[in-house]
Amino acid sequence: MGDLLVVPIGEVENHWLQAAAACAEAMLHMPAQLLNPLPVPPSALHAQRNQYLSTSLLELLLPVGRERGARVLGVTELDLFIPILTFMFGQAQLGGRLALVSLARIRPEFYRFPPDPALTLERLRKEVRHELGHTLGLVHCGDARCAMSLSNSIVQVDAKNDSLCASCLARSQDHLRALQSGGNS
Ligand SMILES: [Zn+2]
Ligand SMILES: [Zn+2]
Repeated sequence: MGDLLVVPIGEVENHWLQAAAACAEAMLHMPAQLLNPLPVPPSALHAQRNQYLSTSLLELLLPVGRERGARVLGVTELDLFIPILTFMFGQAQLGGRLALVSLARIRPEFYRFPPDPALTLERLRKEVRHELGHTLGLVHCGDARCAMSLSNSIVQVDAKNDSLCASCLARSQDHLRALQSGGNS
């Protein structure tokens, strides 16, 4: 089994990186290593939307730790999109190595509410669990309280827990066990 790398894309405050790393460590049961920030690729910017193409940023993560088979969690302040969606909180490879979360839309300030670092942190944890869950082969869950439920809005993020439902948890643990026994997935 590879290791776990946490990689900022562009400038990200250290306390958010530490929180994301701690959450990822707890979920994947492996120690995280924090890497230096990757520069934002100018080609990922969509000028009219003033957003960044999420798939381009995942591609940027592709070479990171590839030879060691490392799990990679990208963390960014950039506002993410893909052409069919107005925005994304994050994105991940289903059953793959790479996950990406954005802080852009989880701060209350984005919705014209007063700053609330504790709430932002709680939302960040949910998004880290959700995207890493995808890397463990989990698809979206019908239980709105489960961290693997689909969130198209911050209201849906706030409605869910930062933990997995029993069935998602069991499946993620099966996947982790397969990884730990040297299975390739
Ligand atoms: Zn998802
Ligand atoms: Zn679930």
